[in-house]
Amino acid sequence: MRTLIPILVALAVIIAIAGGLDSSGNTASDPKPDTTAKTEAPMKPVYSRSGHDVTPISDEKRASLAAKLSPEAYRITQKDGTERAFCGTLLDNKKDGTYSCVVCGLPLFASQHKFDSGTGWPSFYTPYDEQHIKREVDQSHGMVRTEISCSRCNAHLGHVFPDGPKPTGDRHCLNSASLVFLEKGEPVPPASKPVETDTAYFAAGCFWGVEHWFQAGDGVINAESGYMNGRTDNPTYKEICYEDTGHAEAVKVTFDPKRISYQQLLEAFFKMHDPTQLNRQGPDVGDQYRSGIYTVNDEQAKLAKAYIKKLTDDGVHRRPIVTQVEPAQEFFSAEDYHQDYIEKTGRACHVRNPWTDEAAPAH
Ligand SMILES: [Zn+2]
Repeated sequence: MRTLIPILVALAVIIAIAGGLDSSGNTASDPKPDTTAKTEAPMKPVYSRSGHDVTPISDEKRASLAAKLSPEAYRITQKDGTERAFCGTLLDNKKDGTYSCVVCGLPLFASQHKFDSGTGWPSFYTPYDEQHIKREVDQSHGMVRTEISCSRCNAHLGHVFPDGPKPTGDRHCLNSASLVFLEKGEPVPPASKPVETDTAYFAAGCFWGVEHWFQAGDGVINAESGYMNGRTDNPTYKEICYEDTGHAEAVKVTFDPKRISYQQLLEAFFKMHDPTQLNRQGPDVGDQYRSGIYTVNDEQAKLAKAYIKKLTDDGVHRRPIVTQVEPAQEFFSAEDYHQDYIEKTGRACHVRNPWTDEAAPAH
């Protein structure tokens, strides 16, 4: 496939011009979605790397949550207030645990990143998850500072300054009243938990594009490239290409079953590639490019087989479907340079966008 990349890129550009890109606009060249939007128009769910739902909440929901705050927490989080130095309740807290947003419960900072800055405000050198906070320029009070707020509910938290310790050099300077501390071992409230997820595994040829399009699905938390259902442990890319290890290039899809079903993922999988090609896909030949569904339970296996039967009965493809359906064995993550390959390089791959309403081409 690697030699055909320039042609594929040209093809992708043509497809893009023809309006073939997905409606979510998730392409390598597009700007990041605007997470500062203040309205609750139906929007694509947003998940952080740590698996939390960080879709911005509505003004209405924010107002109802804010109404339950103490006057001090309200002044700080909703009116961009600042508490007096050395007065916050969490300044000297040295216990193990997480610091969540006082308004919406999203975990924002962790005890292992806390340090004594001597400034009088709780300080952290890095957030719990980069996607849980927003940074915006704040020019109030005759200063230019970087404000930090909660990416889910927009609560004002404090500011970040470039005079922190290694490894980041950042000092996230927090108002205690914007945070709730949850000690390690205490029960975690639902609002502070990651979403409950399911996992699905698919092989549809070169994993670059497969990962890209699964990642674009509404309700998909993470899509990751790797190798599975082969005969060796911890294979490398070179080994699976040249040493006949029997692994398939596969994608691990972690998803929120409340937002997207396994059935929808199956449908996307069959739309994005040609399931009638045996041990090859597009320009790539070899059993590492086979079409496969690797199931984690009987329910997934049942759904996968039933859907293959339906596609067959409906005569969707001119040739028989050769997709393997097997229990998932261990999934080995691919090397870092393969992850988010399409996003990082802007290159294209053989697969097509499965999230449009167009019918899949007949094979
Ligand atoms: Zn929040």
